[in-house]
Amino acid sequence: MQNVNAIDFAYRSYHTKVTPAYENKLDDSVCVNCGQCLLACPVNAIYEKDDTKDVLKALKTKKHVVVQTAPAVRASLGEEFDLPAGTLVTGKMVSSLRKIGFKKIFDTQFGADLTITEEAAELIERLKENKNLPMITSCCPGWIKYIEHFYPELLKHVSTCKSPHDMFGAIAKSYYQNKYKINKKDLVVVSIMPCTAKKFEIQRKEMKKEVDYVLTTRELARLIKSKKINFNKLKDEEFDTPLGLSSGAGTIFGASGGVMEAALRTAYETATGKKLEMLEFNQIRGMSDFKEGSIVINNKTINFAVVNGLGNAREILEQIKNKKCKYDFIEVMACPGGCIAGGGQPKPTNKEIVQKRMNAIYLNDKNKKIRKSHENPAIIQLYKEFLGRPLSKKAHKLLHTSYIKRGT
Ligand code: SF4
Ligand code: SF4
Repeated sequence: MQNVNAIDFAYRSYHTKVTPAYENKLDDSVCVNCGQCLLACPVNAIYEKDDTKDVLKALKTKKHVVVQTAPAVRASLGEEFDLPAGTLVTGKMVSSLRKIGFKKIFDTQFGADLTITEEAAELIERLKENKNLPMITSCCPGWIKYIEHFYPELLKHVSTCKSPHDMFGAIAKSYYQNKYKINKKDLVVVSIMPCTAKKFEIQRKEMKKEVDYVLTTRELARLIKSKKINFNKLKDEEFDTPLGLSSGAGTIFGASGGVMEAALRTAYETATGKKLEMLEFNQIRGMSDFKEGSIVINNKTINFAVVNGLGNAREILEQIKNKKCKYDFIEVMACPGGCIAGGGQPKPTNKEIVQKRMNAIYLNDKNKKIRKSHENPAIIQLYKEFLGRPLSKKAHKLLHTSYIKRGT
């Protein structure tokens, strides 16, 4: 399904094994850590490395431990507590994290709004210069490792923006830490993610340990249960400010097509100075493997495409390689349906359940007062007080990254 072929059957009959080639370690293979095999394995033989003990250890110290939660987690965590798929449990999730003992409960959606502000500026710049097009999104670490292994010659097309949770970590360990006078050694950042690949991402040297631990949705559920918290009876609570404020555009990052839609909302309005008449880009919503559309920005037609699942990404990469690609901007997410179907999500994760989680995400966006990343007041304040403007020297140093060529 992922077209990676990191694991396969080896040996015969009773001796059959699922293993990387030559029984090498998964770590030394082309595996991109997406965790889709883990969701598919019928006997739970594959699972994530559990980091809950290390997080609990950090919480027992005097350190300032903050947590951020990805958009897709609030749309699926309830399933671990027998709530129907598609139940949004944002308030209960925040309340449970406060009970567990985190000092501040922040939102990766703030990081997503920041990503969009930077990425939209990057797209406008590339379009103006007609350079390194099509631009491809960069917020999925599974996808990034895939292109590093299989199409390293196309890396110049990938946006240099870090993923939302890493942008959040970079801002927490600079702006937030300075503003609230927290000792550098005392700040610990934990990310709750629907994703197993983010555990790998934070170990990349380019990410400079901006995030200390990643827990999946399943690990968070285990943590809540281990603390004997009655999740379904919890009262709804709010995220902390300022890194807990977000827009509807930050919410839809959790679904395939969401990053593109959020970026187009901001790119259109910042490039033209006009308001978008319609915020919903219905042609790139939904569960299809491949979606496309176009938009006119300052008299230029921008063609865009959205793919999910790495097998589908390969097709579009072949088009770019053979100079037959008609798109200017492409979103790629490794998991089918996007992060709502990530390898760290509750089991089972099937098409029907993923659709319900997706509906919850779009409903959340619709009900948000602010629906565009560049209108998030906390983002506006961050640029005013600290970063200057999108793509400034400081923004580049903290929020952008580079990639490496890996072998196959
Ligand atoms: S984590 Fe993803 S890439 Fe790695 S073996 Fe599993 S499905 Fe394949
Ligand atoms: S699509 Fe989302 S959950 Fe899946 S690997 Fe990418 S970032 Fe992680």
